[in-house]
Amino acid sequence: MQNIIAVDLGGTNIKTALINSNGKIIKKYETSTEAKKGTKAVINNIISSIKHIKKGKIIGIGIGSPGPLNHKTGVITNPVNLPFRDTPLKDIMEKKLKLKTFLDNDANCFALAEAMFGSGKYYENVVGITLGTGVGGGIVINKNIYHGRNNAAELGHTTIKYDGPKSRCGNNGCIETHVSARGITALYSGSDPLSIQNLAFKGERKALETYNKMGYYLGIGLTNISYALDPDIIVIGGKISNSWKFFNKSMNKAIKERYFTKPCKIVKSNLKEAGVLGAAALVLEK
Ligand SMILES: [Zn+2]
Repeated sequence: MQNIIAVDLGGTNIKTALINSNGKIIKKYETSTEAKKGTKAVINNIISSIKHIKKGKIIGIGIGSPGPLNHKTGVITNPVNLPFRDTPLKDIMEKKLKLKTFLDNDANCFALAEAMFGSGKYYENVVGITLGTGVGGGIVINKNIYHGRNNAAELGHTTIKYDGPKSRCGNNGCIETHVSARGITALYSGSDPLSIQNLAFKGERKALETYNKMGYYLGIGLTNISYALDPDIIVIGGKISNSWKFFNKSMNKAIKERYFTKPCKIVKSNLKEAGVLGAAALVLEK
């Protein structure tokens, strides 16, 4: 059996795994990114974590990283939580480790993981949405990530309220400003999403109302995605998806009200290790 090395590069931690082509995780390792120490330190940490799990015949390395990046050249442009500036990570890895390396952004990796190993396994057209600090998106068609010219599927920055609050991208009323961690905090007017989630579990009215609103806004965003792509399935992941039971009803309500025909299947992700699985899937992509 030939294996893959998967790297889930984040601003705080680097997760690496040795994975076979069926998506079975054989070995795992996790270490600090140490982003504050600069580019060289982060690269050294990636390489040393790979060495921790490397075993047997390896067919390639897949890296999921925060964007923006160019998946073809393997250059990471200027991510918010990493010190990289136009860093040719793919070339660096290939030179140091003599293994073919594939790179893509974490939201695309999430969607690919779902399409290959998760809820989207038996479908042709899969959309993945990650709800976290921001809102990420990925579009996978026939087990291939759709990139457009390069930056396709930045679904978090599609507008749902043209005169709404400012987003990180500079535009107003992006779906991201309504349904991300920050959006939820703003809807509740204060407190962090985890505390708001805990309050929702206790049945606090204001917390439940917050998720109700957030779900409705998310549903509007998913309606727009459906009008553009009419996918077979949309899979929702990221930390905020743990509040699924508090927002899925209003989410479905919005879609039913707004979409002109029966909406596609929309589910919560149930992949435990979507980050590394998505990175591994990059190596298997045709
Ligand atoms: Zn935006």
